[in-house]
Amino acid sequence: MFPAQALISWFKKNSRAFPWRNRRGVYGVWISEVMLQQTQASRVIPFYKKWMQRFPSLNSLAQARDEEALLYFEGLGYYKRFHGIMKTARLLSGKSFPKQAELLNKLPGVGKYTAAAIASLVFKQRVAVIDGNVARVLSRYFAIESSCAEIAKDSKTEALVESILPKREYAVFSEALIELGAVVCKKQQPSCNACPLALSCAAWLSKRVERYPLVLGRAQKKVFSTIGIIEKDNQFLLLKRENKTRLTDMWEFPILEHHKQGLSKQAIAKGLREQIGEQIAIEELNLLLTRKLFSFSHSYTSFKAYVEVWASDVKLSHEKLSKKKSYRLAKNARYVRKKALLKKPFGAAAARVREYLLAKAST
Ligand code: SF4
Repeated sequence: MFPAQALISWFKKNSRAFPWRNRRGVYGVWISEVMLQQTQASRVIPFYKKWMQRFPSLNSLAQARDEEALLYFEGLGYYKRFHGIMKTARLLSGKSFPKQAELLNKLPGVGKYTAAAIASLVFKQRVAVIDGNVARVLSRYFAIESSCAEIAKDSKTEALVESILPKREYAVFSEALIELGAVVCKKQQPSCNACPLALSCAAWLSKRVERYPLVLGRAQKKVFSTIGIIEKDNQFLLLKRENKTRLTDMWEFPILEHHKQGLSKQAIAKGLREQIGEQIAIEELNLLLTRKLFSFSHSYTSFKAYVEVWASDVKLSHEKLSKKKSYRLAKNARYVRKKALLKKPFGAAAARVREYLLAKAST
């Protein structure tokens, strides 16, 4: 029999103190659960605190401008989550959250796990709550020959979790199982000696903990990009990402994605030209991009980006450029002063460039 009581007792003594555990209101639990997706709790804490200070209720959030709210999410990554939050806030403004997991699951950006977590933690519904941590604990405890992703989406897992839910305190049990996966039954070096499930854990008893969960190898895709810092009259050219699959509504320096590393200056200028404004002449861009400043890489879940950053040694002015009749900016492009860079929400690559520019300004 699954040692549910031992797990609950362990959790009551060892659960970590998080700001979202202080208040069990549906709004706070929803925001924290969305922020915690694919993100470590320690990283979420400062974002959650600032968010709740600025947007303490569903209605205050529903009335906020997207661009301002996005600033409070900047740096957390997976920005689809942000757009889901805003859509749900506006949909539910002036109404209540539904209580059942199936109905919560229909809200924008509320996946099966988040819906189950809210239904369980806030509305005390008896539902199976399965995230990556739970899938890992199950894979080891029951020695399941599958990967975490397969276990989490397998409908049999739901039945398995329902079968081990205790008659009482099932919400505490669900939270305890997630916590155990996060702090004891970790991905690397699980602390089996301190685990309340050890006495009946199949992987531990058979000394095959390292085997579970199965890991399905997948090579990380490489993406190459070139960013152009275009500066005129001490202002920087930014573009708003509109209608994109990733980082929608965030701002960035003009960026070109390509398949090979080390594009020629001509190719960079040609590619960036299309984004900055149809009419901008290639010769002008050649003047604007004369020097490679630095390069860096950044890992995302499904790919690794290798980024080169180019800038200019030539000082150009609006006045000089505007005299050229070929010059016209794209609708989503703006020149922004250095100080105002912090008022725009940026993705990881653009934020790295902004950090460079701001550090340069202070030296
Ligand atoms: S005994 Fe080890 S492998 Fe088994 S559930 Fe506990 S931490 Fe995980």
